[in-house]
Amino acid sequence: MSAYDADAIVVGGGLAGVAAAIAVAKCGLKTIHLAPVGPPDRRTSALMMPTVDYLRDAGLVDDPTAVGHALTQIRIIDATGRLIRAPETLFDAAEAGLDAFGWNFANARLMERFHAVAEGLDNLETRNVGVTDLGADHTLTLGDGSVLRAPLIVGADGKKSLIRSAAGFHIRETEFRQAALVCDLDLGRPIGGTSVEFHYPQGPFTLVPAGGTRANLVWIDDRALLEQARATGEEALAARFLEKSQRLFGAIALASPAFVFPLSTLSVDAAGADGVVLVGEAAHAFPPIGAQGLNLGLRDVADLATALASADRGRPDWAIGVSTDYSRRRASDLARTGGMVDTLFRSLLADMIPAQALRAGGLWALKLAPGLRKQAFALGMGRR
Ligand SMILES: Cc1cc2nc3c(=O)[nH]c(=O)nc-3n(C[C@H](O)[C@H](O)[C@H](O)COP(=O)(O)OP(=O)(O)OC[C@H]3O[C@@H](n4cnc5c(N)ncnc54)[C@H](O)[C@@H]3O)c2cc1C
Repeated sequence: MSAYDADAIVVGGGLAGVAAAIAVAKCGLKTIHLAPVGPPDRRTSALMMPTVDYLRDAGLVDDPTAVGHALTQIRIIDATGRLIRAPETLFDAAEAGLDAFGWNFANARLMERFHAVAEGLDNLETRNVGVTDLGADHTLTLGDGSVLRAPLIVGADGKKSLIRSAAGFHIRETEFRQAALVCDLDLGRPIGGTSVEFHYPQGPFTLVPAGGTRANLVWIDDRALLEQARATGEEALAARFLEKSQRLFGAIALASPAFVFPLSTLSVDAAGADGVVLVGEAAHAFPPIGAQGLNLGLRDVADLATALASADRGRPDWAIGVSTDYSRRRASDLARTGGMVDTLFRSLLADMIPAQALRAGGLWALKLAPGLRKQAFALGMGRR
């Protein structure tokens, strides 16, 4: 059997993968990062304040104002036309004693920052090649036919993770008929720092501030309907957006092509075992409501760093210990956040009167009760 090529191999070049490779290398491990070059990531991510603090502490983003846009308010408009409707609700970060709930970043901009940090680490080697197999004793076969081994394998290879399936992690997965259409928009009027969510029966239509009159749209609806809308062309699509935004922000023009992402939920029973750990969407995926996915992925990375920092690397089985410790550290956050998003998503789409009443009642309660609002802020922001 060949000797180890590194202490750790991180598989996957998305934001969670690059952040994980940096975190592992910063813990002093000789690290190889396998990151095949893919199409540019067109998504944007609203990252909550605790995550932005982590980015600062980890040296990934020193100054969020240079890369992103502050989210200071969240406005929810019930556009369901249902029998029992929720009140229009405005949440202000100032109520939580904060300047902002978080920041909205273009994933591509974040990636530039992460790459710049990775390039400065001597013990981190990046190879732009994918993995085709994970065999016994942590032997990875790469797309170029070469093989690599390490005691610790970090699977950051996304929703369809090969590392996860090859290592035998058990998953639960639900595909939705809904999808998310995303694109950048230029509005007739600025939305400042307010994220505006129109809640339609088929799913939310959300405008996230991207500076001045620019907004990032995340429109969740039936996948077939979104594909059809996209195919009608820019002009017809802009007219559709104008109607869905209830003309609150004046004329709307597309500032980027529109992309449609299928939606599903995915969770694992455990996020680590036998020297293999899963981070980011390899461990959890859900619809982009409540802006949780990458926030959770970066909390994975933070916990991986903590597990590594507390490991006794003199022990022959240290990597197995790290994977067990990591799995234990992640369990409650993954269950809580996954459960919260699932409940929120299903309540948004519920046609049943009791569910509508619960949702409307919940928003009334949040509107009226400051204590409850504080708790909701803490949960939504992923405070631990
Ligand atoms: C429309 C939309 C809006 C969103 N908005 C938000 C938001 O506001 N806030 C938030 O926190 N989250 C948001 N998310 C979620 C967030 O985008 C994801 O959680 C995050 O980008 C996932 O990053 P990742 O690195 O885990 O996965 P990915 O970005 O999918 O990266 C996986 C990587 O693994 C690589 N890979 C795959 N297979 C292999 C292999 N065999 N070998 C090597 N590499 C491999 C791929 O090439 C890819 O680069 C949103 C998601 C969507 C769809």
